[in-house]
Amino acid sequence: MVATPPAADDGHRGITRVVIVGAGFAGVACARRLADEPRAHVTIIDSTGYHQFQPLLYQIATAELAPEDIRFDLAGMFARNSNVETRTAEVVSIDPSRPSVTLADGGTVEADVLVVAAGAQANFFRTPGAEEFAVPLYSLADAERIRSRLIELFRDTAAKPELADEGTLTFVVVGAGPTGVETAGALAEFVHDVMPHVHPHLTTVGSKVILVDIGHTVLSAFSDEAHTYAAKSLRRRGVELRLAVSVKEVAADHVTLGDGTTIKTGLVIWGGGQMAAPLAFGSGLPQGRGGRIDVRPDLTVPGFPAVYALGDVANIPTGDGNGLPQLGSVAQQSGDWAGGNIIADIEGTGRQSFEYKDKGIMAMIGRKAAVAEIGQRRHELDGRLAFAAWLGVHAQLLANTGAEMRAFIAWADEFYLRPGHRSAELLDPSKIDTPRIGKGAP
Ligand SMILES: Cc1cc2nc3c(=O)[nH]c(=O)nc-3n(C[C@H](O)[C@H](O)[C@H](O)COP(=O)(O)OP(=O)(O)OC[C@H]3O[C@@H](n4cnc5c(N)ncnc54)[C@H](O)[C@@H]3O)c2cc1C
Repeated sequence: MVATPPAADDGHRGITRVVIVGAGFAGVACARRLADEPRAHVTIIDSTGYHQFQPLLYQIATAELAPEDIRFDLAGMFARNSNVETRTAEVVSIDPSRPSVTLADGGTVEADVLVVAAGAQANFFRTPGAEEFAVPLYSLADAERIRSRLIELFRDTAAKPELADEGTLTFVVVGAGPTGVETAGALAEFVHDVMPHVHPHLTTVGSKVILVDIGHTVLSAFSDEAHTYAAKSLRRRGVELRLAVSVKEVAADHVTLGDGTTIKTGLVIWGGGQMAAPLAFGSGLPQGRGGRIDVRPDLTVPGFPAVYALGDVANIPTGDGNGLPQLGSVAQQSGDWAGGNIIADIEGTGRQSFEYKDKGIMAMIGRKAAVAEIGQRRHELDGRLAFAAWLGVHAQLLANTGAEMRAFIAWADEFYLRPGHRSAELLDPSKIDTPRIGKGAP
């Protein structure tokens, strides 16, 4: 079924109602682009009520930053934009043909243009036990659960050091892509450089970070030089690499690998893959790789000219047929571009095909250690220069979102100059909620 094109409609006094689902990089960029457009009324809906800066999630998980440092209240972000309404609500379904969305409380919100920017979720590839016992790292709730679990495990093992024989201080990270590598690097610093100051007598029992991947290299999307550099940097930080082996099963207290080995562990972090957010499934929109919503070059969904899909939830086509990667810069640029196309529709000037300005790919392994392949020609950097490039690109992402920069600058300063420093409050076991791991955890 083909929806009515999003013309300014008379029933709403020439105002085009734009409903955006998801306030990640894509949704916020789209709303920002439309914020100065008086002929559009924007409703941006997010189940959390805030924008979360995902690239700094593992800093929350390892107590480098407090949750409020990367959580930006949506209403505050758009307080000065009278044509942007923010709503805290979960969208349970979308009707692309009307178009409209249904909220968890049963209410519906109708639109002239619907923008689906609901992001991604972990893909456990049907690994037995993974959904139940491994923790993904996609949201602030995930990151806080990991931090609480780490502190709880150290606290309990400090009280009863023999627990370490059961793997309570062995931490397994699944997936050696950028998320897994960054998490393993940050975790290694946390367990080897931070926690020994909190529980000095535990240095004798030792703690371990193990990174597992079915591939033969870490950071497989990067160059051979980057593989070597990243593997060396991780090992130097005490991360044990278990490559070319699959994870066969995850249980409450162990992981079984494809080669039959069992690793006793207190915490498994899943960075093993991602797929479209749940909302994409059952939406009636065409889905491709990873369940992501297929889009045309102008970012609308084939057959639904009044529906856009952006960022991680979308399969954004490239000339080579591979699709753009799930990156903050892709999400942000696609959001801004879709906003421009919605304005073009209002003006009747015609939509443009999305042109992505490639910033390259990068991963931070730890203090002064990062890899970056910059620009379309993939200019290779590592070490301090790559670390500086990482900071620059992420500062820009944050600034484009219109979010507060203070905490990011303070973190960068501390991270570089005061290694191992943590706020006592973030490590205090009396301040943590006992984490619930697995299915049904918030
Ligand atoms: C740990 C981690 C580290 C990363 N590091 C980097 C990095 O260093 N550099 C980089 O470029 N990229 C990085 N990325 C990728 C980048 O963060 C994503 O590509 C980007 O956030 C995607 O933006 P998005 O707007 O598409 O989705 P998201 O940022 O995921 O936002 C989606 C929003 O939709 C909301 N939502 C979902 N479903 C519903 C619903 N049914 N109802 C209401 N609201 C809903 C969610 O609450 C969320 O706020 C990282 C990702 C992770 C997980």
